[in-house]
Amino acid sequence: MTGTWEAHPHARAVETLQALVRIPTVSHPDQLDPQAFEDLLVELERRFPLIHQRLEVTRVHTHGLLVHWPGASAARPVVLMAHLDVVPVEDGWTHPPFSGDLVDGSVWGRGTLDDKGCVVGICEAVEALLERDFVPAQDVWISLGCDEEVFGQGAPLAVAELVRRGVRPWLVVDEGGAVASEAFPGIGAPIGVVGVTEKGVTSLELSVEGSGGHASTPTRNGPTARLARAITRLDRAPLPARVPEPTVELFRRLAPHAPAPLRPVLANAGRLRPLLTRVLLAAGPETAAMARTTVAVTTLSGSPAINVIAANAKAGVNIRVMVGDTVAGVVEHVRRTIGDDQVRLEVVEAHEPSPLSPVDDDAFRLLESTIREVFPDAVPAPYVMMAATDARHFTTICERVYRFAPFRMTLAQRQSIHAADEHLGIEALLDGVDWYRRLIERLPA
Ligand SMILES: [Zn+2]
Repeated sequence: MTGTWEAHPHARAVETLQALVRIPTVSHPDQLDPQAFEDLLVELERRFPLIHQRLEVTRVHTHGLLVHWPGASAARPVVLMAHLDVVPVEDGWTHPPFSGDLVDGSVWGRGTLDDKGCVVGICEAVEALLERDFVPAQDVWISLGCDEEVFGQGAPLAVAELVRRGVRPWLVVDEGGAVASEAFPGIGAPIGVVGVTEKGVTSLELSVEGSGGHASTPTRNGPTARLARAITRLDRAPLPARVPEPTVELFRRLAPHAPAPLRPVLANAGRLRPLLTRVLLAAGPETAAMARTTVAVTTLSGSPAINVIAANAKAGVNIRVMVGDTVAGVVEHVRRTIGDDQVRLEVVEAHEPSPLSPVDDDAFRLLESTIREVFPDAVPAPYVMMAATDARHFTTICERVYRFAPFRMTLAQRQSIHAADEHLGIEALLDGVDWYRRLIERLPA
């Protein structure tokens, strides 16, 4: 982009993002304000009149929206997803989190990156195309969830609504990846990372029963000791690591942009998988999580009083299942590793990793070419997402589910998601609108 952003054809998107950020649609059981969500829907109607007048808008769940824009063909429908809710804020913000302040070329506030930027990007692109009486080559659906941050029912109900209407999407695009700078040490080019799978979230509860009693007369190997032994066994026996296929492809694509000595290693990532696995494991917890299913003991409880022996000790275990592993396999690993049948194991929630969306495919190539068009310096590449998104629900009705937010984000910005000082650059927002618009314009007949 050249010149000032005010001259950009989608410049009004900046004010729209500010307006949406100022409405605190926080998803949290103790902070939920239904009126804020109602206000947000009113604001969307005010900012995007043609979407609401010309397209079919269906309310889904409490405050979600499903919008249908008929195209020239309904053979390969496309779903563009985003969510309206945000996580709560904590202290430490430079600019108040619901101010939507425009400072230093960015819009500041909770939700700018996650995920109101995508809401504005999608809606502004569609509104602008409607102003031109553009007809997309394929049906376009917009699915705006209202409870993504609390793993709510919005997205499953949107999927149910599509199933009811007999819609089988050809392509689904949701948040997740970004045009990420400073993503890998030594690689100067930003990477347009597109999530092709996400880890499954599974939780277990470990518990050990005992007789309890007074702390003055303890016995050996009581519930707390047995539970502690189980936990240390788990800690010492991580699951086997291996670099999954999307990561191998990511490395291959980064090879030409890497420092010379690294190039052949990355270019031959497939053959050098064992070496790369060791490098990822050694480089720190974030990269290690890219190479294996992770197991974290989180909650712990025992006796409620310091002079009472626990009759029951419990630990919560949060597991992120890597594509290629299964919940059953991981639970079996945990059981075998603990090796103590007095430790009871209960599966609290079980979600398999999302199936892999194809990379060697027209839909992925469409995302790739659109990324190259709008972000000419970026390297488009697939990756495995560590966090969960609403997109996972759509894998039941679509083989091509991709997670990509078309915004340039620095490392600091990516770290501000769910933390303080979340902000989105004005030019980044406008590029994002351009990306969604071009994607819709380029849908294949
Ligand atoms: Zn999000």
